Amino acid sequence: MSQQTLIIITFSIYFIASLVIIFFLILKKQQPKAQNTSFLANNLADEKQKSNIIINTIEDGIILIDPKGVIQLFNPGASNLTGWQDSDAIGLDYKSIIKLVNDKNEPYDNSNDPVLKLNINQHSYRDNTATLVSKNNLQIAVSISTSAFFDQNGKISGNIMVIRDITKERLEEKQRTEFISTASHEMRTPVAAIEGYLSLSLNEKVSTIDNRARDYLEKAYESTRHLGQLFQDLLTSAKAEDGRLTSHPVIIQLSEYLEKLSQDLKFAAEKKNLTISFVTGEPDDVIDATKGSHNILPLYYIKADPDRIREVITNLFDNAVKYTEQGVITLGLRGDNNIVQIYVKDMGIGIPKEDIPHLFQKFYRVDNSATRTIGGTGLGLFIAQKIVELYQGKIWVESTINKGSTFYINFPRIDTVTAQNELRNQINEINV
Ligand code: ADP
Repeated sequence: MSQQTLIIITFSIYFIASLVIIFFLILKKQQPKAQNTSFLANNLADEKQKSNIIINTIEDGIILIDPKGVIQLFNPGASNLTGWQDSDAIGLDYKSIIKLVNDKNEPYDNSNDPVLKLNINQHSYRDNTATLVSKNNLQIAVSISTSAFFDQNGKISGNIMVIRDITKERLEEKQRTEFISTASHEMRTPVAAIEGYLSLSLNEKVSTIDNRARDYLEKAYESTRHLGQLFQDLLTSAKAEDGRLTSHPVIIQLSEYLEKLSQDLKFAAEKKNLTISFVTGEPDDVIDATKGSHNILPLYYIKADPDRIREVITNLFDNAVKYTEQGVITLGLRGDNNIVQIYVKDMGIGIPKEDIPHLFQKFYRVDNSATRTIGGTGLGLFIAQKIVELYQGKIWVESTINKGSTFYINFPRIDTVTAQNELRNQINEINV
C-alpha cells in the first residue's frame, strides 16, 4: 500500500468518524427538545383543563362577549343565574339574555349598560346595584363586572362579564341602612332639643351665666352641633343608599345659580382670610365673587334639584376651606355641547394618591395631622357622589400634595331651546 493510499484511508476514517460524532451530537440536541415539546403540549393541555375546571365549577356567571355583542362562552354559573342553557345563549346578543333593572325596577338602557360603559371607558367596569331578571322572571341582586381584552392594535377584541349573586349582602346592607336611618332619626330629635337649650343658655338676653360657665356651655354647644350634623349626615346617607333621597329636579341656569352661591360662600372663606373667585368658561374669565359681576354669563342648563346641588357645592367648598391655610378657592363652571362641568379648586394640603380611590366611600377620612385636628364625619363626599349620580353626573378629584385639590363634577348639558321650553312649562305649572 502506497503512502498516498494510506493517507487517503486515514483521512477518510477521520472524516467518517467526525460525521458520526456530529450526527450523534445533533441527535442528542434534538432529543430533549422533543421531550420539551411534549412536556409543553402536556402542560398546555393541563392549563386548558385547569381553566375549564375553574370556568365550569365557579359559582359566578362568566360570559365571553365578542365586539359585536354576541355571546361566545356561557359557563354553568351563568346558566344557573339567568336560567338560559349555554347551547341557547351562545350566538345570541347578550342584551337578549342579560336583562338588568335598577333599584326602581326600570330596565337598564345604553347609559348604564355594563358592556357599553366598558367600551366607552376602555377599561374594567363594576356595577354593584343591578338586579338581574332571569328567564323565568326571577329577580336576583347581582354585582356585575366587565373587563375588556385587546388585540395587538389596542382595539377591544372581546369582553368578559362576571355576574355574582349578592342577594345576601344586599339584604344585610338594606337592614344596616334601615337601622342607621331609624337610629339617627330617633337620636336627632333629642340632640336638636339639647342644642336649642344650650343656645338659649348662651343667649345673653335670655340667661345670665358667668364666664366660666359660658366657656363650658360653648364647648358643649359646639359638640352638640357636631353630633347633630353627624346624625343628619347619617340620615341623608342612609336615604341616599336606599333611593329615598327627596329630589325635585327643575331646570337650573348654572352660571347665574353658582354666581349667587359663590356670594353666600364667600363668608366661610373670608373667616379664614381666603379669597374666593368664580370662573366661567376658561380660566381667564374670572369673576371676583367678592365684588359681584356685570359680565354676560354663558348659559349652562342642567336638570337637578337646586337644594341638592347647593348641598354638594357647599360641601366641596367647606372642605376646600377646611383643608386650605392660605390662597384662593376657585369655583369654576365650563362646558361643551354635551356636558357642563363645575369644579372647586383649592390651594390646600392636597390628598395622597393612595387615598383618592377611597375618598367617596362612607366614613373614609385621610389619616393625617389635618384630619386629626379638623372635625368631619367622612360622609360628605359619599353623599355628594350619591346626589351627583341622581342627575346622571360624575364626580372625581385631582390632587397634588401641598399644592391643592380640584374636585370636578360633570352633568349632562340641556340645550338652550329644550331648557327654555321646559322653563316656560315650569312657570305655567306654577301659574295654574
Ligand atoms: P369630612 O367630613 O371628613 O370632611 P368628606 O367626605 O367631606 O368628610 O371628605 C373625606 C376626606 O377627604 C376628608 O376627611 C379629607 O381627608 C379629604 N378631603 C376632602 N376634601 C379635601 C380637600 N379639599 N383637601 C384635602 N383633603 C380633602
